[in-house]
Parts: sequence; C-alpha cells; structure tokens
Amino acid sequence: MTEPLLEVRDLQKYYFERDTFIDTLLGRERQSVKAVDGISFEIEPGETLGLVGESGCGKSTTGETLLRLREATGGSVRFDGQDVFEMDSEELKAFRKDVQIVFQDPFSSLDPRMTIGDIIVEPLKIHDIPEDPGDQSKREWRRTKAGELLKRVGLSATQLDRYPHEFSGGQRQRIGIARALALEPDFIVLDEPVSALDVSVQAQVLNLLGDLQEEFGLTYLFIAHDLSVVRHICDRVAVMYLGNIVEFGPTDELFESPKHPYTKALLESVPRPSTSEHGRRVDALSGDVPSPRNPPSGCRFRTRCPQVIPPSDLDIDQETYRAVMDLRDALVVGDVNPDHIWDAADPERVDEEAFIDEARSRHVDAELRGEVAGVVDTALGYLAEGDDARAEETLRNRFESPCETRRPGVGDATHPAACHLYEGSDEVTVIETNASEPLEADD
Ligand code: SF4
Repeated sequence: MTEPLLEVRDLQKYYFERDTFIDTLLGRERQSVKAVDGISFEIEPGETLGLVGESGCGKSTTGETLLRLREATGGSVRFDGQDVFEMDSEELKAFRKDVQIVFQDPFSSLDPRMTIGDIIVEPLKIHDIPEDPGDQSKREWRRTKAGELLKRVGLSATQLDRYPHEFSGGQRQRIGIARALALEPDFIVLDEPVSALDVSVQAQVLNLLGDLQEEFGLTYLFIAHDLSVVRHICDRVAVMYLGNIVEFGPTDELFESPKHPYTKALLESVPRPSTSEHGRRVDALSGDVPSPRNPPSGCRFRTRCPQVIPPSDLDIDQETYRAVMDLRDALVVGDVNPDHIWDAADPERVDEEAFIDEARSRHVDAELRGEVAGVVDTALGYLAEGDDARAEETLRNRFESPCETRRPGVGDATHPAACHLYEGSDEVTVIETNASEPLEADD
C-alpha cells in the first residue's frame, strides 16, 4: 500500500472567547468555538481529496491549520512522514516550498500594486531559487520561468508586465495557480478555487487543474461548498459539518449511494439538468448551520436532520417528530415568546386553550394527534403559566432522541458515515455517550 503524503489525526482548531485579562478578573468563563473538532484523514500521493460542506463548517480552517497558517489546538499532521507541528524553522521553510495554497478570491489574493511577473517571481525570491542560474542572471532566470508558467496556465509570457486589474476573474485564478506552481510543490490546498468564477470559466479552470496534476504529479486537497464541483476532479470526498467529518468515501460511491442524511440533503440541493427528475422529492436543508460556539449535543446535525431518530417506543412520523423537535429547540434558545402568543390569543391572559392553539399554529408545523398532541399541549400549558423550563422538560422527557444523547463518529470502513442509522456496522463509532446537555441560548 502507498504511504500517504498527508496524514491528519484528530486535528482540532478552537478559538477562544472571553479570554482576556479583564475577562479573568471579572470571572467570565472562557468560551471555545470549535471550528475544527477532531478530524482525521489521509491523502495519498497523486490523489485529490475533496473536503465539502456549507460555509462555516470548518473546511477552510482545516486547510489553513494543516499548512500551519493557523496554529492547531490539538492533533497531528504528518507530511511525507514528517510531523508538521514539530518542524523547526529550516524544516518549515522546506515544507512551505513543498506545499502551496490557492485561495478562493482571485480578486483579493493578488497584490494590485505588483505586476503579474513580480507576483509569480516573489516565492522564488523568498526561497532564493535558483541556486545556480547558469549563464543567466537570477533575475532573467526567474522572469523566464514566470513566462513559462504563465504559458502553462493558458496565458502569455507577453503579459508579465501587466497588473491584476487588467485580467478577468478566470485569468486571475490562472495567475494564482501559476504562482502556486512556481516552487514546484508536491501538494496544493485548493480553497474554493472556482467558487467566485462563472460556470463556463469554472470548467476551464477545473480542466487546467486536472491537466497540471497529471503533468506534475500533484496531490490536491480540494475545498468546496458545492458538491457538483468536486465530482469530476476528486478521487475521494470527505463531507464536513460543524467541525466534524460526517461521511467519507470514493467519489462515485458517495454520489451514487450517499449515506449520511446531510450528504443526501447536499446532493438533493444540487440542480440537475434532466427534465425527468423534475418534481423529485427534495429533503432540502432547513435552517442555518448552528453556531460552533454552542453546537448541539450528540449528533451535530440533529437540529436539521430530516431523518432524526425518535424514541423507540414512540409512534410518530418523521415530519411530526421534526416539528416537535423544532418546537423544543425554539423553546431552549428562547425563540418562543409567550407574551406575543398571549397578546394574539387572549390579551386578558385567561384562556389557556386559546394560548395553546395560537402557540401550535405559530410554532408547530404539523398536524398533531393522540399521545403526541397531549404531551405537546401539556408543555404549552406550562409555557402559558410562564414555566418555560417545565415546558421544555416535558417535551424532553417524552421526545428525547438517541441522536441527541450520543455523538456518532466515522468508523473504519472505506465508506463510513457518522450516523446512528448505521449503528452496528464498522461505518459508525460513538464518540461520546454522555452528551445529553441541552442546547443553550447563544448569549
Ligand atoms: S445520527 Fe440521527 S440526527 Fe444525526 S444524521 Fe443520523 S439520524 Fe440524523
């Protein structure tokens, strides 16, 4: 088996808030924002791994942390067998030559005051390349090299003295790629390299990246929020949600048979050209990614999951269960305002039934029946009396999901998914068993 070029183990990147001297004096507890929370993966030489997820899921932070552009909170990264976080300054300099990054925004990643030639030559100067320019001066050698690189990315050596503003978005991204290639790296982090480009230009840049990979034997970590972009360029894909990897797999397999409800929802939201698919059922992702300041207990995706697992002894359909869980979460984060409900239902604040009807119509997006209706109405009755905590407790006691008390992680299989629906296989591991704290309101 080939040795991986890059090995990432339990990588963590936390940011800390309320961390100043004044905060300590005032006795404020330090709060962590877990941007990347213990992820592991490997990339083999010549391979392209896609890292995909919505914005804010931690994928760009992952790329920057493993390149040591940000300091990791924990975990390890090995590049070509060497521990990246233990490198001394000489080793780090060599590492910075072997690994490069191409940023998302071709408009801001190039210095507008420098010519294209100077931009491409700059990394060569920093690393004092070449050692021996032969018959040429170093300046001439570097300029020739910059011209060749420009040609290789589809531009012309005659454009070396132009400035970034004279180029289109796609051309600027080509210039960014030429700059990344100048040091002849082994590994490139492509951080949303085509997101800012028109669709037609995206295809050209993706083709260029594929050609360059073949020609120079490059290894890529390809970061994207759009699954359709990674399909044709990646060998494997890792799907990230709120700082964790939730599914991992060979690209075709992941696209043909996605397992994790989040991956399925992401794929459903990709537009398809086929008219025969019009009218297909789409479990679109609802709501935003929760704050990493205050991630949900258990499975981080549970607040949006269209397949969240109900208690085994509860007879309830998924739509109704989702609606009740949404009510519970809204109560916890303070999104249910009893005063507004009373004002609309009965300003005299006497008719509890009217309050319950109004609360249901505002906050429960499903038809409730039988036991479920009884428990929800009891909880809303407590809310009408001003006892929010008891209302939330009543719902928790009957509706608590295994998805909120145990956190799933990806197992060892070739196509694992961090989801309790796959429990009992080697596709899922349970990371913690005591994560039953409720969601708390962001303060
Ligand atoms: S563990 Fe539960 S909430 Fe999480 S993805 Fe699976 S079914 Fe959904």
